[in-house]
Amino acid sequence: MKIAILGGGLTGLTAAYYLSKKKHQITVFEKEKILGGMAAGFKTKNWDWHLEKTVHHLFANDREILNLAKEIGFNKIFFRAPETASLYQISKTSFDKLKTASKIEGQIKNKKYSIYTLASPRDLLKFPLLSWKDKLNAGLVLAFLKLSPPLKLFEATTAEKFLVKFMGKNNWEVLWQELFRKKFGKYAGNILASFIWARVKKRTKKLGYIAGGFQNLINHIEEKLINSKVNLLKGYEIKRIEKKEDGFIIDGEVFNAVISTLPTPILIQIAKQILPKAFISRLSKVQFLHAISLVIESEKPIFNKTYWMNILAREIPIMGLFQQTNFIDKINYDNKHILYCGWYTTENDKLWLMGKDEIIDYISPYLNKISNPSPRGRLPLGRKFKFTNSWLFKIRFAQPIFDKEFLKNKPEFITPVKNFYLATLDMTYPYDRGTNFAVKLGKEAAVMI
Ligand SMILES: Cc1cc2nc3c(=O)[nH]c(=O)nc-3n(C[C@H](O)[C@H](O)[C@H](O)COP(=O)(O)OP(=O)(O)OC[C@H]3O[C@@H](n4cnc5c(N)ncnc54)[C@H](O)[C@@H]3O)c2cc1C
Repeated sequence: MKIAILGGGLTGLTAAYYLSKKKHQITVFEKEKILGGMAAGFKTKNWDWHLEKTVHHLFANDREILNLAKEIGFNKIFFRAPETASLYQISKTSFDKLKTASKIEGQIKNKKYSIYTLASPRDLLKFPLLSWKDKLNAGLVLAFLKLSPPLKLFEATTAEKFLVKFMGKNNWEVLWQELFRKKFGKYAGNILASFIWARVKKRTKKLGYIAGGFQNLINHIEEKLINSKVNLLKGYEIKRIEKKEDGFIIDGEVFNAVISTLPTPILIQIAKQILPKAFISRLSKVQFLHAISLVIESEKPIFNKTYWMNILAREIPIMGLFQQTNFIDKINYDNKHILYCGWYTTENDKLWLMGKDEIIDYISPYLNKISNPSPRGRLPLGRKFKFTNSWLFKIRFAQPIFDKEFLKNKPEFITPVKNFYLATLDMTYPYDRGTNFAVKLGKEAAVMI
């Protein structure tokens, strides 16, 4: 069979790998000049390793990608337990009460912010911003979510309602509210409880990374595909697909089957001639946010130890900061430190419309404040978080919105058009998209044909 795979991210590459084993004739169409999609990396001439455009790590239970790596003889995935923490904004009164509480970073000495880690039950017990009753409640609900199978209840209510009801209002406000607001913006109140179930279920203390960067695994798969005579068309943007009798035409070439791994809104644009109107109207109801990632290279780190820092201080307009070099040795990046700043936005958000310099101007005062807090909580004059280099990446349709509308309209492998299959990142529901699920989707799509 002649099969076209649209998109050369990990879903498309995995589908190509498994289909090539079935001796089909496969062509992968990829818009960019390199394969890997959202997990693709970039590299300066001085770095030994590639770096992903947005922060990437694996969880210890990411079996699908670990199994694929094993199957193709790739043994460069390793696991560590880097420090993860959250930065809170606290009032002066509560700060005075908390003076003696342990602050893991020890950097934030002013009276406005405090950093706590919440990676274990012990951390939760020591956490000073909640009462004992709230902490007990939080611990019980987290344990329940970790052990529970997926329940209908999780789809019948929103994460906010679920957490307020079972964990209590204080826990919602201290632990979750700002996370949801920063990740989902205007959609925060609509996200289903199944999302929080999947997040808790999946999260592991140990996080994985790939020596050489995720691009190293992608390049390894690429080599396998080349050896199996898969036709990899890079730098090839598909603009339109047509149908002719039993086949599909892409740029004059006829294929017997198509697997699309493109973001759903892009697929709708290029395949509107072949997909029934009712199906397009259904898919159009799935909402997405775009992702912005600012990568900063610096001589000194912003945090001494923490890798993953959720920014729960409302006044700081950053969702999370990831000091890559507190997870992965800086020797791989020319002995420089690497920091990721991340956001999710809508098309009309002012941040989405800003260029790199504007974003840097916008967030620098906050980075200075976090990096060098003055004892009185004022911005330190003349003490800046200095960059040696920076890169801005904007990724469209990076985060599907798992709300009630999504449940009614979510895409599935099989479409109304015979031999036209979907395998897109919104299909990882209830799990948040990830490379592990991309591999799972690609493998499952290959079974369909
Ligand atoms: C901010 C952020 C953080 C993340 N963090 C992690 C993490 O820590 N761990 C993890 O495992 N995963 C993470 N992910 C998710 C992970 O990168 C994705 O789930 C995975 O890479 C998706 O693979 P995919 O092949 O399904 O989609 P994509 O990688 O999006 O692949 C689709 C491909 O289609 C191509 N394309 C688009 N339009 C066309 C066209 N018209 N013609 C031809 N080609 C086209 C694109 O260029 C792209 O290569 C993160 C994602 C984001 C956005």
